[in-house]
Amino acid sequence: MNDNAKSNAPRLDAEEILAGIRRWVEIETPSHDGAAVNRLVDTVEGELRTIGARVERTPGRDGFGDVLQAKAPWGRDDEPYILLLGHLDTVHPTGALATTHRFRREGDSVFGPGIYDMKSGSYMALHALRHFVREGRQTPLPVRIMYVPEEEVGSPTSRAAIEAEARGAKYCLVMEPARDGGRCVTARKGVGRFVMQIGGRAAHAGVRHQDGRSAIKEAARQILAIEGMTDYAAGVTTNVGLVSGGSGVNVVPAACTLEIDLRVPDAATGDAAVARILGLQAQDPDCPVVVTGGMNRPPYGKNPGIAALFDHARGLAAELGFELNDVPLTGGGSDGNFTAALGIPTLDGLGADGRGAHALDEQIYYSSLVQRTQLLLRLLETLR
Ligand SMILES: [Zn+2]
Repeated sequence: MNDNAKSNAPRLDAEEILAGIRRWVEIETPSHDGAAVNRLVDTVEGELRTIGARVERTPGRDGFGDVLQAKAPWGRDDEPYILLLGHLDTVHPTGALATTHRFRREGDSVFGPGIYDMKSGSYMALHALRHFVREGRQTPLPVRIMYVPEEEVGSPTSRAAIEAEARGAKYCLVMEPARDGGRCVTARKGVGRFVMQIGGRAAHAGVRHQDGRSAIKEAARQILAIEGMTDYAAGVTTNVGLVSGGSGVNVVPAACTLEIDLRVPDAATGDAAVARILGLQAQDPDCPVVVTGGMNRPPYGKNPGIAALFDHARGLAAELGFELNDVPLTGGGSDGNFTAALGIPTLDGLGADGRGAHALDEQIYYSSLVQRTQLLLRLLETLR
């Protein structure tokens, strides 16, 4: 660490940061429970107002929670700004906190539902703003924070607002969790989602089997065709993740529904894969197949703007005494896909280090809290 960095190094308290994260983790926020998410939105809105941020809260739609947008107390509204992006929902059902994901600290690991993806990172964004306010300092560029209520289901109700906010941004910093030893994310695959509805003809499985046309048998053929599009070398994966169909074990099934997830490394590959999936035809002409869907999150690569932003962050990390690397291409989507696809230099994965996103062992590393918050502060101080 050089002297300059030392003298500028903000005084951050890991215990205080963890206490703030704990406040947010202990309000459980499954994406589909808008009322639950809004209880956390209330808390976050209150914390933002306490530091003097100008807050705008947009009521949720379709049962989801509200969208929060905040501006730091300083900066002009007509200037390009740094957008900090986070989500307040988690994949965990209410009750996880009391059972599978009790909040607890074991050595360097701190557990809790959604603590890694991504309540820590979301909290760190607010903590960073609070830090500047306390020190009476401002950043060269205005700073805005946006908290989304339903990222884990693809941000269906907030996408337009994310894109509108991103269009005015000079940089977008996404506070999603760090990867594999503190790496940040500079490229993400695109995500496609599809539903395939397969018809058939019901018949008694014992008496009139020959009259039936099995939608599930057709589904089996379609599943093999869809899964066969996976090409690891090309970075393309297809997954039939949900199957439902049939009405009774003694009935030839007249309907079956498949839900399909697609991941692609770039837009051209995505267009081709989408066309293939939407073009799937029934193999049994008596079993009509209807496919709907398309790309949900566009892919993004490490373009020159993203590379320059990453290099800058890497230099700041070196001043702070640690090495910052990036992951070449992650299959996980985030709201960073939307901002990067608009051409806004986007750096993702700036949140806490840890592991087990969406899993039973979801955890953050306590030792990463100050380091990652420091890196965020330095980014906010130095981006121009
Ligand atoms: Zn996330």
